[in-house]
Amino acid sequence: MKRTTRDRYFPLISALIVVGCAACSAGQAPVETPSDAPLDAALQTIQGDDLLAVVKTLASDEFEGRGPSSPGEEMTINYLRDEFIRMGLKPGNGESFVQEVPLVALTADPSVSLRIDGGSGTSNYEYGPEFMAWSKRVAEKTAIDGSEMVFVGYGAVAPEYGWDDYAGLDVKGKTVVILVNDPGFATKDESLFNGNAMTYYGRWTYKFEEAARQGAAGAFIVHETEPAAYPWEVVEGSWRGEQFSLVSEDNNMSRAAIEGWVTLDTARSIFEQAGLDYDTLRDQASERGFKAVPMKLKASASLKNSIRRSTSNNVFALLPGRERPDEYVVYMAHWDHLGRDATLDGDQIYNGALDNATGVACLLDLAEAFVSLDKAPARSILFFATTAEEQGLLGSAFYAETPIYPAAKTVAAINMDGANIWGKMRDITIVGYGMSELDDYLKEAAAAQGREVRPDPEPEKGFYYRSDHFELAKKGIPALYTDSGIDSAEHGEEWGLAQRDAYTTERYHKPSDEFDPNWDMAGAVDDVRLFFRVGYRLANESRFPNWREGTEFRAARDATMARLR
Ligand SMILES: [Zn+2]
Repeated sequence: MKRTTRDRYFPLISALIVVGCAACSAGQAPVETPSDAPLDAALQTIQGDDLLAVVKTLASDEFEGRGPSSPGEEMTINYLRDEFIRMGLKPGNGESFVQEVPLVALTADPSVSLRIDGGSGTSNYEYGPEFMAWSKRVAEKTAIDGSEMVFVGYGAVAPEYGWDDYAGLDVKGKTVVILVNDPGFATKDESLFNGNAMTYYGRWTYKFEEAARQGAAGAFIVHETEPAAYPWEVVEGSWRGEQFSLVSEDNNMSRAAIEGWVTLDTARSIFEQAGLDYDTLRDQASERGFKAVPMKLKASASLKNSIRRSTSNNVFALLPGRERPDEYVVYMAHWDHLGRDATLDGDQIYNGALDNATGVACLLDLAEAFVSLDKAPARSILFFATTAEEQGLLGSAFYAETPIYPAAKTVAAINMDGANIWGKMRDITIVGYGMSELDDYLKEAAAAQGREVRPDPEPEKGFYYRSDHFELAKKGIPALYTDSGIDSAEHGEEWGLAQRDAYTTERYHKPSDEFDPNWDMAGAVDDVRLFFRVGYRLANESRFPNWREGTEFRAARDATMARLR
C-alpha cells in the first residue's frame, strides 16, 4: 500500500496529543506510553541556577573566549569531559570523549587583483572595495589564468524543484558568475523553490560547493544586499585575514582554485564589458528554463596563501539506549567562540557568554536530566559539543563527513545555539519552520507548557543554514533549531523584540557578550524542558521522523532509510 506522508504523519500527531493530555491529567496514559512521573522528576532537575553556573565558568576570562586550538579549548574540553564523567555518561567516540578535527588556517595575501579580458577591452578590480577572493585549496599559490567566464544564474542543481542551472553545460576550468539567494526569493513566487524563504540552494556555501562539483576553476558570487541579507562590508570584513577550513584528503584540491564575491557595481561593469545587461540577465535567471550565458570574457587572478595547520576537538558523550542502543537521538551545541584578539585595545576576550556558553549549559543540563531517569530511554542519546562553529560550522561538517554513528541510525538532532536570557516567553520560534516533522514534536511539547510555536519571522535570511544542525541536515538527519520566543510573559512582545535587537547590535560577536548573574533563566529552563520532552519522545519511539515532501533534505533521508531496509 502506498502511503502518503500525511497518512504516516497524522496518527503520530494524535498519538502525541493523547500523550500530551495524559501529562495534564495523570493516570490516563495509554499502556504503551511511558508514565510521565519519571519525566516530571527529570524535568525538575533542569534549573536556572545550574545553567548560570556553567555559563559563568565557560564565559570567564580564564577560558579566553574558547578559541579552537587555543589554551581555552583545552580548558573547555577538559571541563566538558569531567562533567560527562561525573554524570556517569560513556565516552561518545569509542574509549574517547573527543574526535580530533584537523583544521587549516589560510591567509590570502591581499595583493591579489582580478583582471577581465575580452569584450570591450580589459578591466582590473581592486581587492576589498570591488571584490574579495580566497582559495580553500591548501596550497601556497593558486590561480586562474585566462579562464572563460560563464554566467550560471543562481548556480543551483535542485532536482526537487525541477531546476538545473548547469544543465548541458561543461564549466571545467571555467569561471562561473553566480547570483546569491534563489529564484523563489527573487520573484516571491511560491511555486519557485520555497518562495520567499531561503533554501539551501540560496546559501553562498552551497554555490561554491556546486561550482566545485561542476569542476569550475573560478567561482564568483555577485553581492546584492537584500538577497544576501547583509551589506558588502560584512563580505569584506569576514573574508579578510585568517580563514579556517577543514582539510580533505586531497588538500581541498577539488575546490575551485579561486572563490570570491564581486560587488554589484563590479558585476554591472563586467557584464557591460561583455555587452550584456546584468539586471536583465539577473531577472531572466529566475525564470524556468533559464540557460547559462557564456560571457566571452576571460578572468585572471592569482593568490598567495600562508598556511597554518592545527587541530581542534569535537566532544561526545553517550547515554546508551535500553532497547535499541544502536539508534541515536542527538543534542548538540557548539562549545567554541571567537577566542582572544591581542590586537584589540581594552577587553580582548570574546567571552561568548550567550553565544554559546548558554547552549553548552543547556546541553549539560539535558545530560543531567537524562541520567536522572530510573530507566534509560529505549534509544541512545548522544550529547555532542561541536568545535569551530564560528569558523563556518567546521566541527559539525567534519563529523558529518566522518561520522561516528551512521546517519541512517540517527533519529534526529536538536541544536542549541544561544539560550533565552530574558525570562519566560509565551512563544518559541522554530527556525526553518515547516521543513521537518520535528515541528510537530515541538508543538506538542510547547502545548504542554501552554506556549505557542511561531515560524521564523525572517525565513529569507536563511538562519536555518547558519548553525551546526545544518551539516547533519545535509546528510538527511532531521534537525530542530529554535530561537527564544519574543512574547515576554512579563513585559510583552515589543519589549522581547527590543532585548533581542539590543543584544544583536551591542553584544553579538563582540567582547561584550559577557556573563551577567542577573540574567533571568526561567525561559531557558522552559526551553530545555521542551527539548527534553522532544528528545524523550523520540528516544522511546521506534519511528524515524523525516523531512517534509518537497524539501531539499528529503531525498538524502529517503536514500539512507532505503539502504537501511
Ligand atoms: Zn553560536
